[in-house]
Amino acid sequence: MAYVVTEKCIMCKHADCVEVCPVDCFYEGENMLVINPDECIDCGVCVPECPIDAIEAESEDNLKWLEVNREYSTKWPSITQNKPAMDEAEKYRDVPNKFAELFSENPGEGN
Ligand code: SF4
Ligand code: SF4
Repeated sequence: MAYVVTEKCIMCKHADCVEVCPVDCFYEGENMLVINPDECIDCGVCVPECPIDAIEAESEDNLKWLEVNREYSTKWPSITQNKPAMDEAEKYRDVPNKFAELFSENPGEGN
């Protein structure tokens, strides 16, 4: 079991979640963060930190996000410190289907 970041994070990246993770298993893309599900210890402390409820426990209903998190956590740099959300975060907060229309495969800066 693991926790996964869902598409709500895309274009928002509030990053409040990363500082509380005891095993530093968040990774940063250009416009989304992901969790490495093999490193996540299933503690759940990141969940209430996300202001837009973008983090969910792995389940039958979000296998797509499990695969996205697994794939890109091996391609993107680690992020362990909070940073300001993206400039467009409020505008994109409740936009649906962000993965299909907005997701970037490019890595973020990490820190
Ligand atoms: S706090 Fe939420 S929106 Fe911000 S990076 Fe973490 S998962 Fe994404
Ligand atoms: S559930 Fe715990 S170990 Fe997993 S990403 Fe969140 S804070 Fe890190």
